[in-house]
Amino acid sequence: MLEQSETIPDFPKPGIVFRDLTPAFADPETFRAVIDDLSAAFAGTFDAVAGVEARGFLLASALAYSTSTHLVAVRKAGKLPGEVLSEEYALEYGTATLQLKPSSLRAGARVLIVDDVLATGGSCRATARLIERAGGTVAGIGLVLELTGLGGRQALSHYPLHVLVSEP
Ligand code: 5GP
Repeated sequence: MLEQSETIPDFPKPGIVFRDLTPAFADPETFRAVIDDLSAAFAGTFDAVAGVEARGFLLASALAYSTSTHLVAVRKAGKLPGEVLSEEYALEYGTATLQLKPSSLRAGARVLIVDDVLATGGSCRATARLIERAGGTVAGIGLVLELTGLGGRQALSHYPLHVLVSEP
C-alpha cells in the first residue's frame, strides 16, 4: 500500500532514518484507500477526529470531512491562541510539547486520534492525555505506518489501536 513512500537516511538529523509517506499520500488511490481504511476500522465509534501536527492534519482533515465529524487540531507548542492545555513528552534527546484548545472539543466527545507514523508512541500518548483532560474520551488511535521495536504499541496499550502497515 505504501509503495510510493520514501526512506531518507540522516533526516532530520544524522543517524535518523526517516520514512516519508507524503509521496504515498500524493497518490489519489493510495490516499483514498488510507482514509477509507481508517474510517472503516473505527466506524461508528467516534464523533471527532484529532490530527497531530503536521502530517496528522492531512489525515484528520480528510477523515473528518468524509465522516462528517468534528476536526480537532493538536499543535506544537506556541501555535494556538487563547486558552490551551499542554502536555510535555520525552523525545530520544530532550522533550517536546503538544497543545490543544479545550474549547475545540465538545463535552464527552469520542475522539479518534490519527497520525502518519508510530515510533515511540510519545506524541499519541500526549495527545490522548490532552483529549482526556479536555473532557473527551479516546475512541481509538489510527496510524498509517508502525515502526515496530520502538515501544509505540506498548505505550498505547490502553487504547484501541489500528495501523495499516507495520515495518521493523
Ligand atoms: P513518536 O511520538 O511515536 O515517537 O513519533 C511519531 C511522531 O513523529 C509522529 O508525529 C510522526 O509524524 C513523527 N515521526 C517520527 N519518526 C518518523 C518517521 O520516520 N517518518 C515520519 N513521517 N514521521 C516520523
